[in-house]
Amino acid sequence: MSDTKDKCAAAREMMVARQLIPRGITDPRVLSAFRRVPRHRFVGGQLNHSAYEDHPLPIGEGQTISQPYMVACMTQCLQLAGGERVLEIGTGSGYQAAILAECAREVYTVERVPALAKKAEAILGELGYTNVRFLTADGTEGWPEHAPYEGIIVTAGAPQIPKPLVEQLTPGGRLVIPVGGGWSQELMVVRREGDAVTEEPVCGCVFVPLVGKFGWKEDRR
Ligand code: SAH
Repeated sequence: MSDTKDKCAAAREMMVARQLIPRGITDPRVLSAFRRVPRHRFVGGQLNHSAYEDHPLPIGEGQTISQPYMVACMTQCLQLAGGERVLEIGTGSGYQAAILAECAREVYTVERVPALAKKAEAILGELGYTNVRFLTADGTEGWPEHAPYEGIIVTAGAPQIPKPLVEQLTPGGRLVIPVGGGWSQELMVVRREGDAVTEEPVCGCVFVPLVGKFGWKEDRR
């Protein structure tokens, strides 16, 4: 194993031990995904050294990759057992998609900015993930072609819960989504049980805006 590889594996182990476990991330699937996925590959050259630190990072096009803890918390909220089909809205760097690819059977990920989608697809390909499919489109409409999904995760802040996403959940499926204003939101877990839909707040959070038909009308930030 090369020196850099060793260093990155050690940085990941430290991230898990210091940032995730003490804050209540206990799901073994999520923890082992964080030990495996090389986050430094998703954040671009100069930022390599800070890839495993406890904060979000810029990924270009005015977008950000979330803090490791937030990615872990959202993934844990999906309660994946390994056999699921999961939809992600907001591919961004592709890091969250890689974490999901480690925890679920099939991942469908939608991004509205073509340059980001292209880059993410290339990195995930290089890393050997074969269970992730990409679409460049407005993800507030979901990806109806492959619905329903046991889990849906939205990694941008929505003004309200987009109806098409709830409709694309399986019975008992979970939607994890930040909902609120342009500058801060509440992370919500939405569950579909037959005709009933329940909503449970998890914690406060800050995401870039979800822009689209069932999101914000434009990115004003
Ligand atoms: N999950 C990403 C973080 C994404 S940041 C990661 O792991 O790196 C949020 C992303 O959502 C941005 O890339 C932004 O372009 C995208 N986005 C915003 N509105 C969207 C929409 N309606 N459909 C799809 N993607 C959207």
